[in-house]
Amino acid sequence: MAYGTRGKILRVDLTQSTFRVEQFSEEFYRLYPGGKALAGYFLLSELAPNTDALSPDNLLVIANGLLTGAPFSTATRFTVAARSPLTGAYGESEAGGFWGPELKMAGYEAIVISGRAAQPTYISIHDDKVELCDATELWGHEPEEVQTRIRAKHGDDRVRVLQIGIGGENLVRYAALSNELRHYNGRTGMGAVMGSKNLKAIAVRGSGRYIDDSHDARPITDLGRTLAKRVKDHPQSWDLQVKGTPGLVGTLNTAGILPTRNFRQGVFEGADKLKWEAYEKDLLSGRHTCYACAIRCKRGVKVNDRYQVSDVYGGPEYETVEGFGGYCGVDDLQAVAKANELCNRYTLDTISTSSTIAFAMECFEQGLIGLKDTDGIDLRFGNVEAMLTTIDLIARREGIGQLLAEGSKRAAEIIGGGAPLFAMQVKGEELPMHDPRGKVSVGLGYAIGEHGADHLYTVHDTLVANADSITFKGAASLGIEALPARELSNAKARNYAILENWCSFGKVVGLCYFGPAPRSFIQIEEVLMVVRAATGWDMTLEELLRIGERATNLARAFNIRNGFSRKDDTLPERLFQPLENGPMAGATIPRQEFQNTMDDLYRVKGWNPATTAPTRARLSELGIEWVADMLGV
Ligand code: SF4
Repeated sequence: MAYGTRGKILRVDLTQSTFRVEQFSEEFYRLYPGGKALAGYFLLSELAPNTDALSPDNLLVIANGLLTGAPFSTATRFTVAARSPLTGAYGESEAGGFWGPELKMAGYEAIVISGRAAQPTYISIHDDKVELCDATELWGHEPEEVQTRIRAKHGDDRVRVLQIGIGGENLVRYAALSNELRHYNGRTGMGAVMGSKNLKAIAVRGSGRYIDDSHDARPITDLGRTLAKRVKDHPQSWDLQVKGTPGLVGTLNTAGILPTRNFRQGVFEGADKLKWEAYEKDLLSGRHTCYACAIRCKRGVKVNDRYQVSDVYGGPEYETVEGFGGYCGVDDLQAVAKANELCNRYTLDTISTSSTIAFAMECFEQGLIGLKDTDGIDLRFGNVEAMLTTIDLIARREGIGQLLAEGSKRAAEIIGGGAPLFAMQVKGEELPMHDPRGKVSVGLGYAIGEHGADHLYTVHDTLVANADSITFKGAASLGIEALPARELSNAKARNYAILENWCSFGKVVGLCYFGPAPRSFIQIEEVLMVVRAATGWDMTLEELLRIGERATNLARAFNIRNGFSRKDDTLPERLFQPLENGPMAGATIPRQEFQNTMDDLYRVKGWNPATTAPTRARLSELGIEWVADMLGV
């Protein structure tokens, strides 16, 4: 191996207060080269089916990618995975920032955490020195204070802290993790798993380097320099630098697919007050970045007006602007920034929090819950104060927050009546702010994705619909076709599978979604070149795609073992109904075409359409026949 791995995994047993280091082989690492693949391997091979997600028996796996910490833009990501308390399925969330690269510099590829500590604990890692430290005095405190105290205790301001807030402590089923106060593993409730283990934080300091002197590092360092210059020349990376993700609000509203009022509408009448121009004028305090990334897509915000919003926790991304904006019927950008700050203080996933509140708003307006259920809160769309108060209640599990902390699927089952129709979720995970009625591959991903509704399983159709676009051309070598964004067909299923493998590969090697083509500015061939340089392996593009596919198959096998089947690969009924307003009014997802394309997709993936389990033949091709033995296929 060259630079990509030191091959060390840290095992921590919180019940026994012990830890040990395992070394794995290059052969093992070639099959599971980090991130999502390592996480899938450990969860599938070591976790008994139907393990209670909030019990000490659940495993929490934190895994770096092969390229995490390499000195070029977007090589920043790490995966946190466990059985999800929100869905009961394979749970996973990636984050950037600085924590993953620091763990790499400390010499570890992954941490596998089992058990439950007798009292609040944090793990301290400084190269080979690992300690389990008392966190009793940190429990219940906000992330900024926790980070300050941990750094003070270790006398080092460069200690990187990954932690949970009170949302995780109170086992909110969609609690997140934060690192450096600005970067979040948001989805699937990994913060609740950490809280169930009495684990407050993991503090890391490493003195190593990604690159040592024993190999030729020029391909990697050259790419770093090239990308730093290219940011301004490529329209995708430049748009991300200038506007960040909030730039999408105006684009999607104009297109008529801005999810509004719980996916009933595609145009929000207050979008002008939420879009980038307003954000830049009213909120923006600075631009921030992740380790070595020249794109700098992260926004800083500060408000000192109707609301006080600290600039410590980072500004709202697109998902959050829209989630607490049009999705909840709110056109007050300062209130949206406050909602974002509250979620970040409490470490709540902003997508699931805003979506669960929008669900409750619709239940309230439809009379399924009333003032007696909300302790007098008038929980209607557009009620800013009701929205902010409800975030507080969720984090503390008080009042209506006790119900909503369970997520929209469980809350709907408890409320009963027609409530499940208003829960916009798949497998229990709330939908992000992308409407598949305008870009159907996003819907295929919501339905078939291993951890429920997520927008990062694949490339959105609009980027690869036009053969002359820079985005399509960037991805052409993957073997895709240019297809209309709303087309459902066998060809679309094939495109989806290729692009899902590519995106999954990114999660294995630790690349941000906003790095590689077609989404952004790193060419496919450049990714192949740095993987070769980092490993010394003479890999092909097909092998990279197989790495991504293998990781997805591990997660699918995990779900099959936990009782998931074809009935779980579906979409909320509302998406088969027409959009109510705007240029896309009347648009639906045609039910039969969608089912036909799903059938095609199972076949393309080598999965049995009846059971959705991977076939032995496909698992053998991927070099993981042990999974076929485990599943009995
Ligand atoms: S593109 Fe944005 S999120 Fe991705 S690594 Fe760079 S700064 Fe971080």
